[in-house]
Amino acid sequence: MVDSYHMTPEEFRVRGHEVIDWLADYMETVADADIIPDVDPGDIRDRIPAAAPETPESFEQIMSDLDEVVRPGLVHWQSPGWFAYFPANTSPPSILGDLVSSGLGQQGMLWSTSPACTEIENAVVDWMVELLGLPSGWKTAGPGGGVIQMSASDSTHTALVVARHQRTAQGGVDQMVAYTSAQAHSSVEKGARMAGIPHIRLISVDDRYAMRPQALAVAVAEDLAAGRQPIFVASTVGTTGTTAVDPIEAVGAIAREHGLWHHVDAAYAGSAMICPEFRIHQPGLDTVDSYTTNPHKWMFTNFDCNLFYVADRSQLVETMSILPPYLRSQRSEEGNVIDYRDWHVPLGRRFRALKLWFVLRSYGAEGIRHHIREHVHLAKELEERLGADDRFDLIAPVPFGLVTFRHSAGNEATDALALAINASGHSYVTPSKLGETSFIRVSVGQTNTGRKHVDRLWRVIDRAA
Ligand code: PLP
Repeated sequence: MVDSYHMTPEEFRVRGHEVIDWLADYMETVADADIIPDVDPGDIRDRIPAAAPETPESFEQIMSDLDEVVRPGLVHWQSPGWFAYFPANTSPPSILGDLVSSGLGQQGMLWSTSPACTEIENAVVDWMVELLGLPSGWKTAGPGGGVIQMSASDSTHTALVVARHQRTAQGGVDQMVAYTSAQAHSSVEKGARMAGIPHIRLISVDDRYAMRPQALAVAVAEDLAAGRQPIFVASTVGTTGTTAVDPIEAVGAIAREHGLWHHVDAAYAGSAMICPEFRIHQPGLDTVDSYTTNPHKWMFTNFDCNLFYVADRSQLVETMSILPPYLRSQRSEEGNVIDYRDWHVPLGRRFRALKLWFVLRSYGAEGIRHHIREHVHLAKELEERLGADDRFDLIAPVPFGLVTFRHSAGNEATDALALAINASGHSYVTPSKLGETSFIRVSVGQTNTGRKHVDRLWRVIDRAA
Protein backbone atom coordinates (compact mmCIF):
# COMPACT_ATOMS: atom_id res chain seq x y z
CA MET A 1 0.00 0.00 0.00
CA VAL A 2 1.36 3.45 -0.84
CA ASP A 3 0.32 6.64 0.94
CA SER A 4 -1.00 8.41 -2.10
CA TYR A 5 -1.73 7.37 -5.61
CA HIS A 6 -1.85 10.93 -6.95
CA MET A 7 0.40 12.21 -9.70
CA THR A 8 2.49 14.94 -8.10
CA PRO A 9 2.78 18.41 -9.65
CA GLU A 10 6.44 17.64 -10.43
CA GLU A 11 5.52 14.50 -12.32
CA PHE A 12 2.64 16.31 -14.01
CA ARG A 13 5.12 18.87 -15.32
CA VAL A 14 7.23 16.12 -16.92
CA ARG A 15 4.31 14.10 -18.28
CA GLY A 16 2.62 17.25 -19.52
CA HIS A 17 5.63 18.00 -21.68
CA GLU A 18 5.56 14.45 -23.02
CA VAL A 19 1.90 14.73 -23.95
CA ILE A 20 2.40 18.07 -25.70
CA ASP A 21 5.39 16.58 -27.57
CA TRP A 22 3.24 13.65 -28.63
CA LEU A 23 0.54 16.00 -29.92
CA ALA A 24 3.08 18.18 -31.74
CA ASP A 25 4.42 15.02 -33.43
CA TYR A 26 0.87 14.12 -34.37
CA MET A 27 0.36 17.55 -35.95
CA GLU A 28 3.59 17.20 -37.91
CA THR A 29 2.73 13.77 -39.29
CA VAL A 30 -1.04 13.77 -39.74
CA ALA A 31 -0.85 15.12 -43.31
CA ASP A 32 0.95 11.92 -44.41
CA ALA A 33 -1.34 9.48 -42.65
CA ASP A 34 -4.17 7.59 -44.33
CA ILE A 35 -7.25 9.53 -43.21
CA ILE A 36 -9.42 6.50 -42.57
CA PRO A 37 -8.07 3.77 -40.27
CA ASP A 38 -7.79 0.21 -41.49
CA VAL A 39 -9.83 -1.37 -38.71
CA ASP A 40 -12.96 -3.43 -38.32
CA PRO A 41 -15.54 -3.05 -35.59
CA GLY A 42 -14.14 -4.43 -32.34
CA ASP A 43 -10.47 -4.18 -33.39
CA ILE A 44 -9.70 -1.33 -30.97
CA ARG A 45 -11.75 -2.78 -28.15
CA ASP A 46 -9.85 -6.07 -28.53
CA ARG A 47 -6.62 -4.27 -27.63
CA ILE A 48 -8.02 -3.08 -24.31
CA PRO A 49 -8.16 -5.34 -21.23
CA ALA A 50 -11.65 -6.36 -20.17
CA ALA A 51 -11.25 -4.79 -16.73
CA ALA A 52 -9.69 -1.58 -15.42
CA PRO A 53 -6.30 -2.02 -13.69
CA GLU A 54 -6.41 -2.70 -9.96
CA THR A 55 -2.92 -1.29 -9.40
CA PRO A 56 -1.41 1.81 -11.02
CA GLU A 57 0.16 1.43 -14.45
CA SER A 58 3.19 3.41 -15.48
CA PHE A 59 2.71 6.56 -17.51
CA GLU A 60 5.02 5.04 -20.15
CA GLN A 61 2.48 2.25 -20.62
CA ILE A 62 -0.33 4.75 -21.00
CA MET A 63 1.65 6.84 -23.50
CA SER A 64 2.67 3.80 -25.47
CA ASP A 65 -1.00 2.86 -25.84
CA LEU A 66 -1.64 6.22 -27.51
CA ASP A 67 0.45 4.81 -30.36
CA GLU A 68 -0.61 1.18 -30.08
CA VAL A 69 -4.31 1.43 -29.30
CA VAL A 70 -5.58 4.95 -29.95
CA ARG A 71 -3.82 6.14 -33.07
CA PRO A 72 -4.65 3.05 -35.17
CA GLY A 73 -8.35 3.76 -34.64
CA LEU A 74 -8.33 7.48 -35.41
CA VAL A 75 -10.07 9.16 -38.32
CA HIS A 76 -7.83 12.11 -39.11
CA TRP A 77 -10.21 15.05 -39.03
CA GLN A 78 -7.13 17.24 -38.60
CA SER A 79 -5.55 16.16 -41.89
CA PRO A 80 -5.29 19.00 -44.41
CA GLY A 81 -6.79 16.52 -46.90
CA TRP A 82 -10.01 16.49 -44.87
CA PHE A 83 -12.81 17.72 -47.14
CA ALA A 84 -15.64 15.73 -45.59
CA TYR A 85 -18.73 16.93 -43.66
CA PHE A 86 -17.80 20.35 -42.34
CA PRO A 87 -14.43 20.85 -40.66
CA ALA A 88 -14.11 20.17 -36.90
CA ASN A 89 -10.92 22.10 -36.49
CA THR A 90 -8.40 22.35 -33.72
CA SER A 91 -5.41 24.65 -33.56
CA PRO A 92 -2.51 24.88 -31.11
CA PRO A 93 -3.85 27.95 -29.26
CA SER A 94 -7.24 26.30 -28.90
CA ILE A 95 -5.75 23.09 -27.52
CA LEU A 96 -3.72 25.07 -25.01
CA GLY A 97 -6.73 27.13 -23.93
CA ASP A 98 -8.69 23.90 -23.46
CA LEU A 99 -5.84 22.43 -21.44
CA VAL A 100 -5.84 25.44 -19.13
CA SER A 101 -9.60 25.08 -18.78
CA SER A 102 -9.16 21.45 -17.73
CA GLY A 103 -6.34 22.33 -15.38
CA LEU A 104 -8.32 25.02 -13.62
CA GLY A 105 -11.41 22.85 -13.22
CA GLN A 106 -13.79 25.76 -12.85
CA GLN A 107 -17.56 25.36 -12.61
CA GLY A 108 -19.07 28.51 -14.02
CA MET A 109 -22.73 27.84 -13.29
CA LEU A 110 -23.11 31.06 -11.29
CA TRP A 111 -21.10 34.25 -11.43
CA SER A 112 -20.11 33.58 -7.84
CA THR A 113 -18.87 30.03 -8.53
CA SER A 114 -16.29 31.48 -10.95
CA PRO A 115 -16.27 35.20 -11.74
CA ALA A 116 -13.42 34.69 -14.23
CA CYS A 117 -15.28 31.96 -16.12
CA THR A 118 -18.39 34.14 -16.37
CA GLU A 119 -16.79 37.46 -17.19
CA ILE A 120 -14.29 36.16 -19.74
CA GLU A 121 -17.20 34.42 -21.43
CA ASN A 122 -19.18 37.72 -21.30
CA ALA A 123 -16.25 39.47 -22.94
CA VAL A 124 -15.64 36.83 -25.60
CA VAL A 125 -19.28 36.57 -26.68
CA ASP A 126 -19.40 40.38 -26.82
CA TRP A 127 -16.23 40.47 -28.93
CA MET A 128 -17.85 37.99 -31.28
CA VAL A 129 -20.87 40.27 -31.75
CA GLU A 130 -18.50 42.90 -33.14
CA LEU A 131 -16.36 40.45 -35.10
CA LEU A 132 -19.31 38.77 -36.83
CA GLY A 133 -21.26 42.00 -37.40
CA LEU A 134 -24.19 40.82 -35.24
CA PRO A 135 -26.76 43.28 -33.80
CA SER A 136 -25.23 45.33 -30.98
CA GLY A 137 -28.27 44.66 -28.76
CA TRP A 138 -26.99 41.07 -28.48
CA LYS A 139 -24.12 42.22 -26.29
CA THR A 140 -24.24 41.64 -22.56
CA ALA A 141 -24.92 45.34 -21.99
CA GLY A 142 -28.03 45.14 -24.20
CA PRO A 143 -31.32 43.34 -23.77
CA GLY A 144 -29.92 40.24 -25.45
CA GLY A 145 -26.75 38.29 -24.89
CA GLY A 146 -24.64 35.34 -25.88
CA VAL A 147 -23.51 32.15 -24.22
CA ILE A 148 -21.18 29.33 -25.16
CA GLN A 149 -22.99 26.02 -25.41
CA MET A 150 -21.88 22.57 -26.49
CA SER A 151 -23.36 22.38 -29.96
CA ALA A 152 -25.63 24.01 -32.52
CA SER A 153 -28.08 21.20 -31.82
CA ASP A 154 -28.24 22.26 -28.16
CA SER A 155 -28.80 25.88 -29.11
CA THR A 156 -31.57 25.10 -31.55
CA HIS A 157 -33.17 22.83 -28.97
CA THR A 158 -32.90 25.63 -26.39
CA ALA A 159 -34.51 28.12 -28.78
CA LEU A 160 -37.40 25.69 -29.38
CA VAL A 161 -37.91 25.19 -25.65
CA VAL A 162 -37.98 28.95 -25.03
CA ALA A 163 -40.42 29.46 -27.91
CA ARG A 164 -42.69 26.72 -26.55
CA HIS A 165 -42.54 28.08 -23.00
CA GLN A 166 -43.22 31.64 -24.08
CA ARG A 167 -46.22 30.58 -26.17
CA THR A 168 -47.71 28.02 -23.77
CA ALA A 169 -49.75 30.67 -22.04
CA GLN A 170 -51.70 31.12 -25.28
CA GLY A 171 -52.94 27.55 -25.42
CA GLY A 172 -51.99 23.89 -25.22
CA VAL A 173 -48.83 22.37 -26.64
CA ASP A 174 -50.76 19.81 -28.69
CA GLN A 175 -51.37 22.11 -31.62
CA MET A 176 -47.99 23.81 -31.78
CA VAL A 177 -46.14 23.84 -35.10
CA ALA A 178 -42.49 24.59 -35.91
CA TYR A 179 -41.19 25.24 -39.44
CA THR A 180 -37.88 24.97 -41.20
CA SER A 181 -36.73 24.24 -44.72
CA ALA A 182 -36.55 20.79 -46.25
CA GLN A 183 -32.76 21.36 -46.41
CA ALA A 184 -32.36 22.33 -42.73
CA HIS A 185 -30.15 20.30 -40.44
CA SER A 186 -31.85 17.41 -38.67
CA SER A 187 -31.17 19.14 -35.34
CA VAL A 188 -34.24 21.33 -35.89
CA GLU A 189 -36.52 18.32 -36.18
CA LYS A 190 -34.77 16.58 -33.29
CA GLY A 191 -34.98 19.72 -31.16
CA ALA A 192 -38.70 20.06 -31.84
CA ARG A 193 -39.24 16.45 -30.84
CA MET A 194 -37.25 16.90 -27.62
CA ALA A 195 -39.13 20.12 -26.87
CA GLY A 196 -42.42 18.25 -27.21
CA ILE A 197 -43.57 20.32 -30.18
CA PRO A 198 -45.72 17.78 -32.00
CA HIS A 199 -45.77 19.23 -35.51
CA ILE A 200 -42.77 20.14 -37.64
CA ARG A 201 -43.22 21.18 -41.26
CA LEU A 202 -40.36 21.08 -43.71
CA ILE A 203 -40.89 23.92 -46.18
CA SER A 204 -39.99 23.45 -49.84
CA VAL A 205 -36.89 25.06 -51.33
CA ASP A 206 -36.09 26.89 -54.57
CA ASP A 207 -33.56 25.90 -57.23
CA ARG A 208 -30.74 27.19 -55.01
CA TYR A 209 -32.00 25.01 -52.12
CA ALA A 210 -33.12 28.02 -50.06
CA MET A 211 -36.45 28.09 -48.23
CA ARG A 212 -39.36 29.50 -50.28
CA PRO A 213 -40.97 32.16 -48.08
CA GLN A 214 -44.17 31.96 -50.07
CA ALA A 215 -44.43 28.26 -49.22
CA LEU A 216 -43.85 29.11 -45.56
CA ALA A 217 -46.64 31.70 -45.65
CA VAL A 218 -49.01 29.14 -47.18
CA ALA A 219 -48.09 26.52 -44.58
CA VAL A 220 -48.66 28.94 -41.71
CA ALA A 221 -52.01 29.98 -43.15
CA GLU A 222 -53.07 26.34 -43.54
CA ASP A 223 -52.12 25.56 -39.96
CA LEU A 224 -53.96 28.58 -38.60
CA ALA A 225 -57.05 27.61 -40.59
CA ALA A 226 -56.82 24.09 -39.13
CA GLY A 227 -56.69 25.48 -35.58
CA ARG A 228 -53.00 24.77 -35.04
CA GLN A 229 -50.62 27.23 -33.41
CA PRO A 230 -47.49 28.21 -35.39
CA ILE A 231 -44.79 29.13 -32.87
CA PHE A 232 -41.32 28.78 -34.38
CA VAL A 233 -39.36 29.00 -37.60
CA ALA A 234 -35.67 28.27 -38.17
CA SER A 235 -33.81 29.81 -41.11
CA THR A 236 -30.43 28.43 -42.10
CA VAL A 237 -27.42 30.38 -43.29
CA GLY A 238 -25.31 27.68 -44.92
CA THR A 239 -27.27 24.43 -45.02
CA THR A 240 -25.42 21.20 -44.41
CA GLY A 241 -26.09 19.72 -47.84
CA THR A 242 -25.16 22.62 -50.10
CA THR A 243 -24.59 25.75 -47.89
CA ALA A 244 -27.82 27.28 -49.17
CA VAL A 245 -28.88 30.54 -47.54
CA ASP A 246 -32.50 31.05 -46.51
CA PRO A 247 -33.96 34.57 -47.03
CA ILE A 248 -33.84 35.78 -43.43
CA GLU A 249 -35.68 39.04 -44.09
CA ALA A 250 -38.61 37.45 -45.92
CA VAL A 251 -38.91 34.64 -43.38
CA GLY A 252 -38.62 37.23 -40.61
CA ALA A 253 -41.52 39.26 -42.01
CA ILE A 254 -43.76 36.16 -41.87
CA ALA A 255 -42.49 35.34 -38.39
CA ARG A 256 -43.32 38.82 -37.13
CA GLU A 257 -46.74 38.85 -38.74
CA HIS A 258 -47.71 35.66 -36.91
CA GLY A 259 -45.71 35.98 -33.70
CA LEU A 260 -43.33 33.10 -34.49
CA TRP A 261 -39.97 32.80 -32.76
CA HIS A 262 -37.36 33.20 -35.52
CA HIS A 263 -34.14 31.28 -34.98
CA VAL A 264 -31.16 31.40 -37.36
CA ASP A 265 -28.87 28.39 -37.68
CA ALA A 266 -25.50 29.55 -39.06
CA ALA A 267 -23.63 26.62 -37.54
CA TYR A 268 -20.97 26.40 -40.24
CA ALA A 269 -21.22 29.63 -42.24
CA GLY A 270 -21.39 31.99 -39.26
CA SER A 271 -17.59 31.94 -38.96
CA ALA A 272 -17.31 33.49 -42.44
CA MET A 273 -19.08 36.61 -41.13
CA ILE A 274 -15.80 37.71 -39.58
CA CYS A 275 -15.11 38.86 -43.16
CA PRO A 276 -17.57 41.71 -43.85
CA GLU A 277 -18.01 40.71 -47.50
CA PHE A 278 -19.95 37.57 -46.49
CA ARG A 279 -22.50 39.47 -44.40
CA ILE A 280 -24.62 40.01 -47.50
CA HIS A 281 -25.80 36.48 -46.74
CA GLN A 282 -27.40 37.40 -43.44
CA PRO A 283 -29.21 40.73 -43.71
CA GLY A 284 -32.04 41.43 -41.29
CA LEU A 285 -30.59 39.79 -38.20
CA ASP A 286 -31.82 42.68 -36.08
CA THR A 287 -35.31 41.21 -36.26
CA VAL A 288 -34.52 37.61 -35.32
CA ASP A 289 -34.99 36.13 -31.86
CA SER A 290 -31.99 33.82 -31.67
CA TYR A 291 -28.89 32.79 -33.59
CA THR A 292 -26.38 29.99 -33.38
CA THR A 293 -22.93 29.44 -34.87
CA ASN A 294 -20.04 27.04 -34.26
CA PRO A 295 -16.49 28.30 -33.80
CA HIS A 296 -15.82 24.56 -33.42
CA LYS A 297 -16.31 24.07 -37.11
CA TRP A 298 -14.46 26.75 -39.04
CA MET A 299 -12.88 29.06 -36.46
CA PHE A 300 -9.93 26.91 -35.41
CA THR A 301 -11.43 26.26 -31.97
CA ASN A 302 -11.79 22.66 -31.00
CA PHE A 303 -15.10 21.02 -30.22
CA ASP A 304 -17.05 21.92 -28.19
CA CYS A 305 -17.59 25.62 -28.72
CA ASN A 306 -20.95 26.87 -29.94
CA LEU A 307 -22.21 30.43 -29.69
CA PHE A 308 -25.89 31.01 -28.95
CA TYR A 309 -27.32 34.53 -28.98
CA VAL A 310 -30.76 35.78 -28.06
CA ALA A 311 -32.22 39.22 -28.76
CA ASP A 312 -34.06 39.28 -25.41
CA ARG A 313 -32.40 37.32 -22.65
CA SER A 314 -35.26 37.79 -20.18
CA GLN A 315 -37.33 35.21 -22.08
CA LEU A 316 -34.47 32.70 -22.04
CA VAL A 317 -33.71 33.18 -18.37
CA GLU A 318 -37.37 33.11 -17.41
CA THR A 319 -37.75 29.78 -19.25
CA MET A 320 -34.64 28.15 -17.81
CA SER A 321 -34.43 29.49 -14.28
CA ILE A 322 -35.32 27.28 -11.34
CA LEU A 323 -33.82 28.29 -8.02
CA PRO A 324 -33.26 25.65 -5.35
CA PRO A 325 -31.91 26.95 -2.02
CA TYR A 326 -28.40 25.60 -2.58
CA LEU A 327 -27.95 27.78 -5.69
CA ARG A 328 -28.88 31.03 -3.98
CA SER A 329 -26.17 33.65 -4.02
CA GLN A 330 -26.12 37.19 -2.77
CA ARG A 331 -24.56 38.42 -6.01
CA SER A 332 -27.31 36.77 -8.03
CA GLU A 333 -29.97 38.29 -5.82
CA GLU A 334 -28.47 41.75 -6.27
CA GLY A 335 -29.14 41.18 -9.96
CA ASN A 336 -25.98 42.67 -11.44
CA VAL A 337 -24.36 39.47 -12.64
CA ILE A 338 -24.94 36.84 -15.31
CA ASP A 339 -25.55 33.30 -14.08
CA TYR A 340 -25.04 31.20 -17.18
CA ARG A 341 -26.75 28.17 -15.61
CA ASP A 342 -29.98 29.90 -16.67
CA TRP A 343 -28.92 30.00 -20.32
CA HIS A 344 -28.97 26.26 -21.13
CA VAL A 345 -29.88 22.80 -19.86
CA PRO A 346 -26.77 21.82 -17.87
CA LEU A 347 -26.10 23.29 -14.47
CA GLY A 348 -22.35 22.61 -14.42
CA ARG A 349 -20.34 24.33 -17.09
CA ARG A 350 -16.69 24.38 -17.95
CA PHE A 351 -14.49 27.27 -18.90
CA ARG A 352 -15.04 26.95 -22.67
CA ALA A 353 -14.43 30.65 -23.27
CA LEU A 354 -10.71 30.20 -22.62
CA LYS A 355 -10.02 28.31 -25.83
CA LEU A 356 -11.88 30.84 -27.97
CA TRP A 357 -10.10 33.64 -26.09
CA PHE A 358 -6.75 32.00 -26.82
CA VAL A 359 -7.67 31.59 -30.50
CA LEU A 360 -8.95 35.14 -31.00
CA ARG A 361 -5.88 36.61 -29.35
CA SER A 362 -3.34 34.31 -31.01
CA TYR A 363 -4.66 34.65 -34.56
CA GLY A 364 -6.10 38.14 -34.23
CA ALA A 365 -9.22 38.83 -36.29
CA GLU A 366 -7.01 39.40 -39.33
CA GLY A 367 -5.43 35.95 -38.99
CA ILE A 368 -8.82 34.26 -38.93
CA ARG A 369 -10.03 36.36 -41.87
CA HIS A 370 -6.90 35.42 -43.81
CA HIS A 371 -7.53 31.68 -43.46
CA ILE A 372 -11.26 31.85 -44.11
CA ARG A 373 -10.75 33.93 -47.25
CA GLU A 374 -8.05 31.51 -48.40
CA HIS A 375 -10.39 28.54 -47.95
CA VAL A 376 -13.21 30.25 -49.84
CA HIS A 377 -10.79 31.24 -52.60
CA LEU A 378 -9.56 27.65 -52.95
CA ALA A 379 -13.16 26.42 -53.03
CA LYS A 380 -13.98 28.92 -55.79
CA GLU A 381 -10.97 27.74 -57.81
CA LEU A 382 -12.08 24.15 -57.48
CA GLU A 383 -15.60 25.17 -58.51
CA GLU A 384 -14.15 26.82 -61.64
CA ARG A 385 -12.13 23.74 -62.53
CA LEU A 386 -15.13 21.47 -62.14
CA GLY A 387 -17.44 23.89 -63.96
CA ALA A 388 -15.08 24.13 -66.93
CA ASP A 389 -14.88 20.34 -67.33
CA ASP A 390 -17.80 18.62 -69.04
CA ARG A 391 -17.21 15.41 -67.10
CA PHE A 392 -18.74 17.18 -64.08
CA ASP A 393 -21.91 19.07 -63.14
CA LEU A 394 -22.01 21.56 -60.30
CA ILE A 395 -24.92 21.09 -57.90
CA ALA A 396 -25.23 24.40 -56.05
CA PRO A 397 -23.63 27.86 -55.83
CA VAL A 398 -20.50 28.23 -53.68
CA PRO A 399 -21.09 31.14 -51.26
CA PHE A 400 -18.56 29.83 -48.70
CA GLY A 401 -16.07 26.93 -48.69
CA LEU A 402 -18.28 24.04 -49.81
CA VAL A 403 -18.20 22.77 -53.40
CA THR A 404 -20.90 20.32 -54.52
CA PHE A 405 -20.68 18.42 -57.80
CA ARG A 406 -21.47 15.17 -59.54
CA HIS A 407 -20.17 13.11 -62.40
CA SER A 408 -22.17 13.97 -65.48
CA ALA A 409 -22.48 10.24 -66.29
CA GLY A 410 -24.93 9.84 -63.40
CA ASN A 411 -25.31 8.33 -59.95
CA GLU A 412 -23.20 5.23 -60.42
CA ALA A 413 -20.25 7.20 -61.78
CA THR A 414 -20.63 9.77 -58.99
CA ASP A 415 -20.71 7.15 -56.24
CA ALA A 416 -17.70 5.40 -57.78
CA LEU A 417 -15.81 8.70 -58.01
CA ALA A 418 -16.43 9.42 -54.31
CA LEU A 419 -15.19 5.95 -53.42
CA ALA A 420 -12.05 6.44 -55.53
CA ILE A 421 -11.26 9.80 -53.93
CA ASN A 422 -11.67 8.36 -50.46
CA ALA A 423 -9.60 5.29 -51.35
CA SER A 424 -6.69 7.62 -52.12
CA GLY A 425 -6.04 7.83 -48.39
CA HIS A 426 -4.87 11.44 -48.51
CA SER A 427 -8.17 13.15 -49.38
CA TYR A 428 -11.58 12.55 -47.93
CA VAL A 429 -14.96 13.83 -49.18
CA THR A 430 -18.61 13.14 -48.35
CA PRO A 431 -20.78 11.25 -50.83
CA SER A 432 -24.26 12.69 -50.51
CA LYS A 433 -27.78 12.66 -52.00
CA LEU A 434 -30.42 15.19 -52.94
CA GLY A 435 -33.50 13.07 -53.43
CA GLU A 436 -32.35 10.33 -55.78
CA THR A 437 -29.39 12.35 -57.11
CA SER A 438 -25.93 11.39 -55.89
CA PHE A 439 -23.39 14.15 -55.47
CA ILE A 440 -20.09 14.83 -53.74
CA ARG A 441 -19.51 17.45 -51.03
CA VAL A 442 -16.03 18.97 -50.85
CA SER A 443 -15.69 21.18 -47.80
CA VAL A 444 -12.50 23.26 -47.97
CA GLY A 445 -11.86 24.48 -44.44
CA GLN A 446 -9.52 22.32 -42.38
CA THR A 447 -7.15 24.50 -40.35
CA ASN A 448 -4.09 23.57 -42.45
CA THR A 449 -5.65 23.03 -45.87
CA GLY A 450 -3.79 24.99 -48.54
CA ARG A 451 -3.49 25.06 -52.30
CA LYS A 452 -1.31 21.97 -52.53
CA HIS A 453 -3.95 19.89 -50.75
CA VAL A 454 -6.75 21.07 -53.03
CA ASP A 455 -4.48 20.46 -56.05
CA ARG A 456 -3.82 16.94 -54.81
CA LEU A 457 -7.59 16.43 -54.44
CA TRP A 458 -8.14 17.76 -57.97
CA ARG A 459 -5.53 15.34 -59.37
CA VAL A 460 -7.29 12.36 -57.83
CA ILE A 461 -10.70 13.60 -59.08
CA ASP A 462 -9.25 14.13 -62.56
CA ARG A 463 -7.61 10.69 -62.68
CA ALA A 464 -10.52 8.77 -61.20
CA ALA A 465 -13.20 10.46 -63.32
N1 PLP B 1 -26.76 23.02 -38.20
C1 PLP B 1 -26.08 22.92 -39.35
C2 PLP B 1 -26.47 23.80 -40.51
C3 PLP B 1 -25.02 22.02 -39.46
O1 PLP B 1 -24.36 21.91 -40.63
C4 PLP B 1 -24.68 21.21 -38.36
C5 PLP B 1 -23.58 20.23 -38.44
O2 PLP B 1 -22.93 20.08 -39.43
C6 PLP B 1 -25.43 21.35 -37.18
C7 PLP B 1 -26.46 22.26 -37.15
C8 PLP B 1 -25.13 20.53 -35.98
O3 PLP B 1 -23.98 21.00 -35.33
P1 PLP B 1 -23.56 20.48 -33.89
O4 PLP B 1 -22.72 19.27 -34.09
O5 PLP B 1 -22.81 21.63 -33.28
O6 PLP B 1 -24.80 20.17 -33.15
